[in-house]
Amino acid sequence: MQITRRNLILSTAAAAVSGLALPRRAWAQTTVQIGDFEVMTLSDGTLTLPADFIFGPMDQAALAPILAEAGVERSAPLTPPCNVTLLRKGDATILIDTGAGFAFQDSAGQLLDALDAAGIAPDDITHVLFTHGHPDHLWGVLDDFDEATFFNAEHIMGDIEYDYWMDPATINSIGEARASFAAGAARRLETLGDQVTRIADGAEVISGLRAQWTPGHTPGHLCFALGDGADQLMIIGDVVTNDHVGFARPDWITGSDQDEALGASTRARLMDQCASDDITIIGYHLPNGGIGKVTRAGDGYRFEAA
Ligand SMILES: [Zn+2]
Repeated sequence: MQITRRNLILSTAAAAVSGLALPRRAWAQTTVQIGDFEVMTLSDGTLTLPADFIFGPMDQAALAPILAEAGVERSAPLTPPCNVTLLRKGDATILIDTGAGFAFQDSAGQLLDALDAAGIAPDDITHVLFTHGHPDHLWGVLDDFDEATFFNAEHIMGDIEYDYWMDPATINSIGEARASFAAGAARRLETLGDQVTRIADGAEVISGLRAQWTPGHTPGHLCFALGDGADQLMIIGDVVTNDHVGFARPDWITGSDQDEALGASTRARLMDQCASDDITIIGYHLPNGGIGKVTRAGDGYRFEAA
């Protein structure tokens, strides 16, 4: 067998997982059917974030009872899950976001193992769509040799998002805490070159799958909507990054949004849309695989996992 860089990686991984000393991990998957799309979420692992990253800019007196009711300790680090969505329809196998890869946090970057457990190989993926360019969504797009992990796929990102991360001024304007995000995104997008297609708000990516511009978390953040009537799904990416406050008070600002005021108004509008139209959502950082419904509760909303 000719050893290429790509099958070297795969055979090394296979040798590692076949080691007798390693316990087999049970991979969580959640699957639903929406119209003619088979929808699955796969875990890329978890992140570890300082609580202030989410809660810091909020009204602390008003926040306290919400966290108490949710059983969340204000100062404890947050460990949100990362749910990558996989869609299958006809010949298309579509991945929405690519996980964090090997260079971000040790507890994330497990998507390839989750795909393998689901019987899906990297070369099966026909389309990679990005909600946005943050590390936990984009950095898994390249392998250890800086080649496309999903090498048969067309890669698709919103035009505003792509232009933002490719703009050399972004690394200086984004703020010190996120400067590495900008460098990491630009390097990966430059490496992918013309493998990336830019799309606009409202674009139909494949038949029945539409992009919806939802700015604030990042400038060009996209949600992806599919289905119609009583059978609709919205992949909401990072419009809601935590289930404790994001549903109860969607109009509150959170430190996880780059433009906090715009993120809050986008979130409030999307929660209204999803509750009014009874749309199933998938949130990248929501619990139980991230799939559920948004229902009205008091002045806000509640997430009910599927
Ligand atoms: Zn994000």
